[in-house]
Amino acid sequence: MGHRAAIYTRISADRTGAGLGVDRQEADCRELAERLGWEVVAVHTDNDLSAYSGKPRPGYRALLADLRAGVADAVLCWHTDRLHRHPSELEEYIAVCERPPGIPTQTVKAGPIDLLTPSGQMVARQLGAVARYEVAHQIERQRAARLQAATAGRWAGNKRPFGYAADGVTVQPEEAEALRWAAGQVLAGTSLRQIARELDTRGIRTSAGGSWDSRTLGRVLRRPRNAGLSVYRGQVVGPAAWPAILPEDTWRGVVAVLDDPTRRSNPGRPPRWLLANLARCGVCGQPVVSKSRAHPPMVIYTCSAASHLSRPAQQVDAFVEAVICERLARPDARDLLLPPDRTAEVAALHTRDAALRGRLDELGRLYGEDAIDAAQLAQGTAAIRRQREQITAELAAASRGSVLAGVVDAPDPAQVWAGLDLSRRRAIVATLVTVTILPARRGRRPGWQPGEAYFDPRTVQVAPVELGPDVARWS
Ligand SMILES: [Zn+2]
Repeated sequence: MGHRAAIYTRISADRTGAGLGVDRQEADCRELAERLGWEVVAVHTDNDLSAYSGKPRPGYRALLADLRAGVADAVLCWHTDRLHRHPSELEEYIAVCERPPGIPTQTVKAGPIDLLTPSGQMVARQLGAVARYEVAHQIERQRAARLQAATAGRWAGNKRPFGYAADGVTVQPEEAEALRWAAGQVLAGTSLRQIARELDTRGIRTSAGGSWDSRTLGRVLRRPRNAGLSVYRGQVVGPAAWPAILPEDTWRGVVAVLDDPTRRSNPGRPPRWLLANLARCGVCGQPVVSKSRAHPPMVIYTCSAASHLSRPAQQVDAFVEAVICERLARPDARDLLLPPDRTAEVAALHTRDAALRGRLDELGRLYGEDAIDAAQLAQGTAAIRRQREQITAELAAASRGSVLAGVVDAPDPAQVWAGLDLSRRRAIVATLVTVTILPARRGRRPGWQPGEAYFDPRTVQVAPVELGPDVARWS
């Protein structure tokens, strides 16, 4: 009986294959080959984690090709359910195997499968149908249970959602507080990456006990459940049985901010200098960027548009920081703070802004379809743009409080400033001032004393921000 056997292994997520790796399947099949006295001539494998997706299986195709070509004349697999996912696959397999002299199939778990006699084939078909029915039924049952739970407002998930206890219903106070704080930060224009880092620093872990990154945090913040809303298959289906952690408009505002296409969710390398892309060139008004210079080695700010200026970044930063700290230390600095909780208001502004963006898109579509003419398009977009500018200004005013909170109300703002990381410092600079960098003057500045730096503070203009669209552009 010296058959030349091909081993077929497949990893899939279905019940019988759960957790059983292909190496283990192959080892078991080789052991079986030895017992049967068969020689293993080929091993074909598919990684097929979605068993019923109908995804092509190159390993399985190769197995059939081997059988048709006579390379192998017997098949070994771990279980019959490794071989076939669908009745049509079984029929093809039977057609290949029943050709005389016939190709035997042996399984580790279920012994030999008889596909060479009509009664054996019938059994195989019925087993396949039963297995299929069971799987389909199981999926349907889970789906029905989830829908029922979702529409009844109960929680049907399996992983503990951040902010709630394992029952999915009881609010976990510290995490809920962290969620509210993070939502406020998003509305204030802080990047997800920065918020994630601060959560890590504060020792707050994800519900799985891990550290935060911007993707995980974005996913958690977008959850309708945070607003006490129940979801079924991606759709909000109504109020849930668990309490909300965020007011619904706050949550909607957070989602609107995160989904805002103008918000750069992945800004690449974060800036390493305080004023890079923040300060403006005094000649042309374009943003300045930082560049490393080799001789002498230092980082300079240059104009991003042309070679208008070249100023040592360290000195310019030190000067601007001194101005900011001086402003923060003034007795009236606290007036810069707005009433602490304006998150709901900010959320409403973001929601309105998102709606206006939608109307702009709609106008563009109508124009594209010749439903409106160019004049109507221009008129419509101008009106929307005016409203959006107004919203941007209001947002800038509202977010000012969050950016400055914890700094201007501290006993020693300069000390707090020293402990802030760069992105927060940049946010504060952008909130309070506009910085314009002029080209350096030649030689020593007037009034220069021996021992002093050449740096002339008059070539760096630090002006208080007038609340307007410019502020939000930097948030
Ligand atoms: Zn310039």
